[in-house]
Amino acid sequence: MTAKSHEITGIAATEGICLLTSQKPAFALLACAGAIVGSLLPDFDTPNSKIGRKLPILFFPVWLFHSLIYLLSLLPGPLQKGLKNYSRQTGHRGFSHYPITWLVIALILLPLLMNMSATVQIWIFPILAGMGIGIASHILTDMFFGGVSVLYPFYKPRITLSPFKTAGLAEKIVCIAVLATLIPMTLRLFRI
Ligand SMILES: [Zn+2]
Repeated sequence: MTAKSHEITGIAATEGICLLTSQKPAFALLACAGAIVGSLLPDFDTPNSKIGRKLPILFFPVWLFHSLIYLLSLLPGPLQKGLKNYSRQTGHRGFSHYPITWLVIALILLPLLMNMSATVQIWIFPILAGMGIGIASHILTDMFFGGVSVLYPFYKPRITLSPFKTAGLAEKIVCIAVLATLIPMTLRLFRI
């Protein structure tokens, strides 16, 4: 999926969950801001992504590491098969699209969040909740357009839920449908 489609579906998923859980407009606003970042975050594994272009210095070490592993995997030898597998994991739709990666990050961040003051938690929690929803919606929608190894490390092949390709007509139709639901949800959530 393209960055725009990920942002739209991420915001729609967040607004939907905020409505279902009767969140206040201020909470929803912070969650949507988090969702925009979260919905783009898994694509930091490629310099061609929107987030990669915006923050190249931050993600450059990841791309450099992947390029190095890829080049080493081209050399014949006993490590070639292992390096090829590793190159797939560090490349696009690799570890940054594995739910387990974000689960581990969440488990690391949770104690830090719990130790923050209540005033800070009020601000941080909706942003992180939105980011989580954005990341989940990104991975889920990528499963429909190209596939993702969502069950890694238990099952390594990519799981694809449709034959459609990124940036095709099907993606545009999905985006229009999601936008159509987004407008009434926004009006209701923010009581406009
Ligand atoms: Zn992606």
